[in-house]
Amino acid sequence: MLATTGFLDELFDKGLLIETGVDGIYGRSGLFEEIGDGFQNLVTRYAGTDNAEVVRFPPAMSRAVFERSGYMKSFPQLAGTIHCFHGDGAAHLDLMQTIEANGDWTKGQTASEVVLTPAACYPLYPTAAKRGPLPAEGRLYDLLSYCFRHEPSRDPARQQMFRMREFVRMGTPDQVTAFRADWLDRGQKLIAEIGLPFSVDVANDPFFGRTGKMLAVNQRDQRLKFELLIPIESEASPTACLSFNYHQDHFGKTFGLETAGPETAHTACVGFGHERVILALLKHHGTDVKAWPAAVRKALWG
Ligand code: ATP
Ligand code: ZN
Ligand code: MG
Repeated sequence: MLATTGFLDELFDKGLLIETGVDGIYGRSGLFEEIGDGFQNLVTRYAGTDNAEVVRFPPAMSRAVFERSGYMKSFPQLAGTIHCFHGDGAAHLDLMQTIEANGDWTKGQTASEVVLTPAACYPLYPTAAKRGPLPAEGRLYDLLSYCFRHEPSRDPARQQMFRMREFVRMGTPDQVTAFRADWLDRGQKLIAEIGLPFSVDVANDPFFGRTGKMLAVNQRDQRLKFELLIPIESEASPTACLSFNYHQDHFGKTFGLETAGPETAHTACVGFGHERVILALLKHHGTDVKAWPAAVRKALWG
């Protein structure tokens, strides 16, 4: 038996999450989804009249784009690539025999042209660049996607497949930093409105290895990433439920994204952890949703 955490077991017992036999891969109940719908509507309300362009990608993306993004350089430990059977009849026979003998049949799989999406904004940059230089006011996108990260855990707030809502701003450095500052403020108001305790702190991404340590220190020094943290699994190490990222010209350079200038575009994104906010609500207000404070229910469902 795997070690269990109290909250995850409670979520299973109440049927809010459904076990699949793999840590971090869960089914969701109707009630869990209703809470999520309420949260997404609230986010949309806070986006107000920003007029973000809605785009939805599936949870898999082009391997070529993924390679270009540099993800394997920074986060090889989290990536999920899709391998498929590409063999002939003889290879299929071999495959069946290997499965029959409980052997490692996956050795015959080869990489496909797709990988799992690691963050909702990754498929966006090359498609945005294809539209040509940005208009003078830049662009703003509204994304929502399931994402994959190979970080199996018994912490229900650290799943392998989870949804991320994102607003992505592209433009001049002034435009994108103003966007991020604005959402840092809006995000706190939003979370306060649903009655959750939070703190905001500078953060870094889990860059891999020794050079990764330097990248993480640099990211913190330059205050490129902020997180809004809510205690879920642990009071001592609260969970990042919203994140506010300034990429400078990283994606602009990588994917040839230009401003009207024309100069290399800067980008920033604000990400909302869909499941994490639902779990924070369940943790702090309890699993009896009908008994939640009226103000919270009103914020979510009107
Ligand atoms: P953490 O530090 O907890 O690993 P992160 O820095 O990796 O979080 P981001 O890369 O900024 O998070 O992802 C954007 C948002 O997606 C986060 O703010 C969080 O709410 C959510 N998220 C990230 N990883 C997971 C996960 N494994 N399970 C559920 N939600 C996640
Ligand atoms: Zn992003
Ligand atoms: Mg992480």
